[in-house]
Amino acid sequence: MYANVIIEYGVKALNKSFIYKIPQNLVGIINVGMKVYVPFGKQEVFGFVTEILDHNATDYELKEIIRVDNPELVLNKELMAVGKYLSDSTLCSLITAYQTMLPASLKIKKQKHNYNLYEEYLVLNDKTKALEYIKNNPKRIKQIAVINDLLSGKKLRKKDGSRVVITALVASNIVSIEKESIYRINKNGKNITEKVLTKEQLQVYNSVDLTKYNTYLLYGITGSGKTEIYIKWIKSVVNSGRSAIVLVPEIGLTTQIAARFYEAFGSDVAIFHSSLSEGERYDEYLKIMRGEVHVVVGTRSAIFVPLVNLGIIIIDEEDSSSYKQDNNPRYHARDIAIFRSNYNNIPLVLGSATPSLESKARADKGVYKLLRLDKRVGNAQLPAIHIIDMAREMKKRNMIFSDALKDAIRMCLARQEQIILLLNRRGFATFITCSNCGFTYKCPSCDISLTYHKSTNNLICHYCGYQKVRDSLCPSCHNDALNYYGLGTEKLEEKIKELFPMARVVRMDQDTTRNKGRHEAIINDFKEYKYDILLGTQMISKGLDFPKVSLVGIINADTSLNIPDYRSGEVTFALLHQVAGRAGRSTIPGNVYIQTFNPDNYVINCVKDNNYDLFYLQEMQFRKNLKYPPYYYLVSIKVIGKEYNTVISNAKKVKKYLDDNLDHNTIVLEHTTAYIFKFNNEYRMQIIIKYKIDKKLMATLKDLDNIFVKINDSRLEIDFNPLRI
Ligand code: ADP
Ligand code: ZN
Repeated sequence: MYANVIIEYGVKALNKSFIYKIPQNLVGIINVGMKVYVPFGKQEVFGFVTEILDHNATDYELKEIIRVDNPELVLNKELMAVGKYLSDSTLCSLITAYQTMLPASLKIKKQKHNYNLYEEYLVLNDKTKALEYIKNNPKRIKQIAVINDLLSGKKLRKKDGSRVVITALVASNIVSIEKESIYRINKNGKNITEKVLTKEQLQVYNSVDLTKYNTYLLYGITGSGKTEIYIKWIKSVVNSGRSAIVLVPEIGLTTQIAARFYEAFGSDVAIFHSSLSEGERYDEYLKIMRGEVHVVVGTRSAIFVPLVNLGIIIIDEEDSSSYKQDNNPRYHARDIAIFRSNYNNIPLVLGSATPSLESKARADKGVYKLLRLDKRVGNAQLPAIHIIDMAREMKKRNMIFSDALKDAIRMCLARQEQIILLLNRRGFATFITCSNCGFTYKCPSCDISLTYHKSTNNLICHYCGYQKVRDSLCPSCHNDALNYYGLGTEKLEEKIKELFPMARVVRMDQDTTRNKGRHEAIINDFKEYKYDILLGTQMISKGLDFPKVSLVGIINADTSLNIPDYRSGEVTFALLHQVAGRAGRSTIPGNVYIQTFNPDNYVINCVKDNNYDLFYLQEMQFRKNLKYPPYYYLVSIKVIGKEYNTVISNAKKVKKYLDDNLDHNTIVLEHTTAYIFKFNNEYRMQIIIKYKIDKKLMATLKDLDNIFVKINDSRLEIDFNPLRI
């Protein structure tokens, strides 16, 4: 017997499979989708079996497979197909696709680390011998107590007992130690107060046909009870013996949502998110491979879990940009979800209070089925939204807080209600300039100014992580004239403490949540009213449900509005609308203050009126006029290299190649500098393709990609449907 094996090898050109002989002792064990260890040249490498062959056509002698890496790990037929789709649709190599689908602990790699966790237990070797031991050693009271416990059927952990006693019992051959595989995360027992769906929820619930493929867009305002309906669908699916995947964005949301699923499904849930340890992730994956769970809740990569017998896939907050991976392979979890739903002939539900324009447009065209929830559950009302013109506040020398927001915070604190403040920039000052000579700190490898972090007294590049300690004098003219500009969350925290010394303030951003469990701890503490004010970046914008929050303040609504990108309006609307939706979710009415220098901007005004539909209409018009998605598809091609001039000349060659080979209706724009123009000492040029239908596109891009594999001075990055250009 023979096997086709694709192997991991650094070079793209080696995206090929090789035939190996299956040694006699592994015939019948080795199967398609397994990870194996094979000789390659002088090395030994890992690979995936893609095919089992009865005979081989080659006449040279074949090498043998050395061993199976982990017999429990098999990419099933569906996942092999998913990998193929991933590779075809993003132009990544097949091996990269398969690697992407596995948790890091199971990815192909040289160094071995055993992630299996065990608990050690004491077991009796022989009952009669044990009784004899008791009779012969009446004075060994401690040993006898252990034996009696074991005789009565108790389970004793080695680590709970006395080392001396256990060693003596093992030495006398009465007891031995047995290992039992355990999981790091254990949630026992459900704890559910079943909610009865409202009439509106029930209608949505019944609109989804659980027996066949369809993509549904559930457009429901914040707090309209979407999550509750997800749970009911999954109940029904699980009751019929099938399983479900729920995707949630990669932000603070994961833990709160996961808690609701644990309540509803107990130990039938596996979770995946970025703050799990590698070991925890490995365990959760094992539970799925062993068929011990039916529900998976997780972030983007959870779309690849090997759940069998899928019954439904749900993507919550489907417009979140965290569903798109921004390094190779640049896939969108929504596309993989559509593939898997189709494959399994099951429904896919995309939920959001601010659907992406792409999804809403598809729903309007009837490609997706539209489901709507227009009211909050119970009597909760949407909050009242106030727009503050910061240009006028500046004249009053209110640089950070407007009078209105200050008053509102004061009143809210007096009523003992809670406050959320959003500032989408971390750090203390976003740039430092010398007022004497004009010197500005910039990253030596990227082309951006360094952000000052006061708590560590460091200047940090937010692109590449470069750090340096702050100087007290200007490094250029040596005067004491360094000035701090731009507002970050760290400085905001300081300001609030100054203005409201009695308020209990907690900050949530990348800097305060670096340690494991911090995220969860901040959210829980805020929920338990250990703090009055939660301030943070977009991390705090979505999904959080705190009944006591009656005030939301957006310190600077313009941060994302001013980004030169075709989606900045959509991103800003979603962010502001979502964070506003954190206010007044229960019985206390909510108020939201939005501080902006663009009070007349249509995005801000649609947020003010809680009017997604109007925003959608205006934004669609703009997209149509400028030939952007959803009217056109985009591909971004980046040419990246160390030499500025070669990058430019290669970019020109790419443009010409595309013009020569693509359909004449396809638009290929001239090269421009990429959004991040210089990163890690490399220059980045970008070429944008806009198309509706182009049958030659995939083949042309594939050829182009292959040409660049052989070019040493530049490399190519191809991104289909980029979220930022
Ligand atoms: P969404 O996911 O749309 O933001 P949630 O499902 O989180 O909405 O619901 C908002 C709040 O209303 C939650 O606190 C939830 O527990 C509660 N809720 C939802 N549905 C019901 C129901 N049918 N009966 C009672 N409370 C409900
Ligand atoms: Zn940098």
